[in-house]
Amino acid sequence: MLKDQDRIFTNLYGMHDRSLKGAQARGHWDGTAKIIQQGRGAIVDQMKASGLRGRGGAGFPTGLKWSFMPKESDGRPAYLVINADESEPGTCKDREIMRHDPHTLIEGALIASFAMGAHTSYIYIRGEYIREREALQAAIDEAYDAGLLGRNAAGSGWDFDLFLHHGAGAYICGEETALLESLEGKKGMPRMKPPFPAGAGLYGCPTTVNNVESIAVVPTILRRGPEWFAGFGRPNNAGTKIFGISGHVNTPCVVEEEMSISFEELIEKHCGGIRGGWDNLLAVIPGGSSVPCVRGENMRDAVMDFDALREVGSSLGTAAVIVMDKQTDIIKAIWRLSKFYKHESCGQCTPCREGTGWMMRVMDRLVRGEAEIEEIDMLFDVTKQVEGHTICALGDAAAWPIQGLIRNFREEIEDRIKANKSGRMGAMAAE
Ligand code: SF4
Repeated sequence: MLKDQDRIFTNLYGMHDRSLKGAQARGHWDGTAKIIQQGRGAIVDQMKASGLRGRGGAGFPTGLKWSFMPKESDGRPAYLVINADESEPGTCKDREIMRHDPHTLIEGALIASFAMGAHTSYIYIRGEYIREREALQAAIDEAYDAGLLGRNAAGSGWDFDLFLHHGAGAYICGEETALLESLEGKKGMPRMKPPFPAGAGLYGCPTTVNNVESIAVVPTILRRGPEWFAGFGRPNNAGTKIFGISGHVNTPCVVEEEMSISFEELIEKHCGGIRGGWDNLLAVIPGGSSVPCVRGENMRDAVMDFDALREVGSSLGTAAVIVMDKQTDIIKAIWRLSKFYKHESCGQCTPCREGTGWMMRVMDRLVRGEAEIEEIDMLFDVTKQVEGHTICALGDAAAWPIQGLIRNFREEIEDRIKANKSGRMGAMAAE
């Protein structure tokens, strides 16, 4: 279990002073100019050595991503864009950083921008996050007043401006290129890649898009050293991580823990166990709504990191752990996610626009058992035709939960269809 002295986020629950004074008392903004004076290359090398992988879901190595930015400007400015859209159902970790520990993010934005040659950074915050935006804007204003942002930011010799942009509440704007479109004032529709943002991103200029948590951990990693951060978790899965556990646990919570903690320890230590005990555990979605669910018995011994969760057929994603006990109608739960993705599809590519609606309608009938057994395979085939055939990952996000359901709970689906045919539906509690 992570010791208190190893926590990066020391005010995750808002128990302490979140103002600049409070943040400084907890060690933030300490020696920022010195870190920057180490130079771009040294900072990127340390980030690579720390083993940090992006915390927004994809898990791409952060230092490596930064190294894709041009070393010399060709006359175009470079930008860091911070993705604070956090709209994935189940995911609620970045909001705790923004409303309770905002200076971790602001200091990180300055250092990361310097490391990528950017004098300007934008934070794109989710439309529904109103209090979070207010808290973050207040912290940005404080930082400007204290000379930590603006000309010669924090006395580092680097001029740096940070802007907070409020989205209008569309899930797809969390996709990095849709986010850039939206930031430019256009409809939030994903772009084809290539070109990748590091070559042509915001306003056609070199851009890196990073998640809030990925940026907020940077200053502490550089202060304590990359070896310290790399010392947590298994190889290739380094660091501490914020987990958000919701659903049928006794005390749902958001908590910073060591990467590669076992699922059982995470639930027992922080969430007071599974509602009704471990025998009552049905399924877990370990990484936010877009990753496949895993049967409870396969999750109990699983380790919470990128590689281990792939081995059980799912993914760490945003580490938004959704726990479902045996009172859950799992078919209906996944149908609800299908409905969400159908609603949030931007509609510009056919497999996603048509496929999400098609999948949702079949799921709707499966909830009631009003289908033929063969339709289960047909539905699986359709998910395979959507997966990997779309401009952005929303197509995959819509397909994977259904694939997880069919792989793990086929029997339940078949039982319901049979029950409907034999008129025993009342006992299935489908409604
Ligand atoms: Fe839009 Fe869906 Fe295509 Fe993504 S996959 S670009 S959300 S239609």
